[in-house]
Amino acid sequence: MADRNIQTLVCSDCKRKNYHYQAGKKRADKKKTEVSKFCRACKKHTLHKEAKS
Ligand SMILES: [Zn+2]
Repeated sequence: MADRNIQTLVCSDCKRKNYHYQAGKKRADKKKTEVSKFCRACKKHTLHKEAKS
């Protein structure tokens, strides 16, 4: 089993899954990632939150 951990970033405005990235190491203790990213659907930068894929 590969220990890949694909994370998804979901736009907090329209709930679209816009970004995917690989979480390399264990981040169980960390808070959920929240980053400002450009959303094509909203056509602006919005807050994106980590979601379970
Ligand atoms: Zn959006």
